[in-house]
Amino acid sequence: MAINIAIDGPAGAGKSTIAKGLAKRLGFVYVDTGAMYRTLALYFVENGIALDDEAAIEAALPAVSVRIAYQDGTQHIFLNDRDVSGEIRREEIGNAASATSGYPEVRKKLLALQRDLAAESDCIMDGRDIGSFVLPDAQVKIYLTASVATRAKRRFDELAEKGESPKLSEIEADITKRDEQDMNRAVSPLVQAEDAVYLDTSAMDIPEVMAEIERIARDKGVL
Ligand code: C5P
Repeated sequence: MAINIAIDGPAGAGKSTIAKGLAKRLGFVYVDTGAMYRTLALYFVENGIALDDEAAIEAALPAVSVRIAYQDGTQHIFLNDRDVSGEIRREEIGNAASATSGYPEVRKKLLALQRDLAAESDCIMDGRDIGSFVLPDAQVKIYLTASVATRAKRRFDELAEKGESPKLSEIEADITKRDEQDMNRAVSPLVQAEDAVYLDTSAMDIPEVMAEIERIARDKGVL
């Protein structure tokens, strides 16, 4: 059976950086499920589908295909065969993903893809409901979080490094709104799985978090 490490947590907790780095170190595949929700959201935005119109979103789904491919160990994601790995990182698309990821049909569309990838290879999968719903049998489950202020500051630094001039107060408001949407939706809300290890990274740097997760996995005899 493939080894599966599930990392869940709120926006900006550092899940993708940690999961990507650890997957590289362990020789595992990194599966970014947020990218899948973002890809569907990009389609809705590009096609002018109102994000609060659940019926229209459902009706659009059969026309959308989401495919993952790995090139030099990096995940690339394709929307109807167009590589959208870069475009989906836009803030607007993250917010659109959060606004539409609560629709049951949207989640259903991505579930099989996520489970198939986890069955095929040793992987680290990050998202919101991986340990609690998508991969209930994952050998290691981590709930990664940090304070809103820390998450906003990290995001601020990331954007500033890219040459953008973000506003810290706006980023904080965005993160709070996303937490609220992701934690309070009816279907697959963000929750800590019962058997997940809670890790607050507010006072930890990236190498420390990676080392801690690796230690947890070794303690469990998974590695
Ligand atoms: O992690 P990321 O910011 O890329 O995720 C974008 C949005 O996709 C999240 O705010 C959340 O609403 C949704 N998502 C989800 N379930 C997952 C991963 C992401 O609902 N497993």
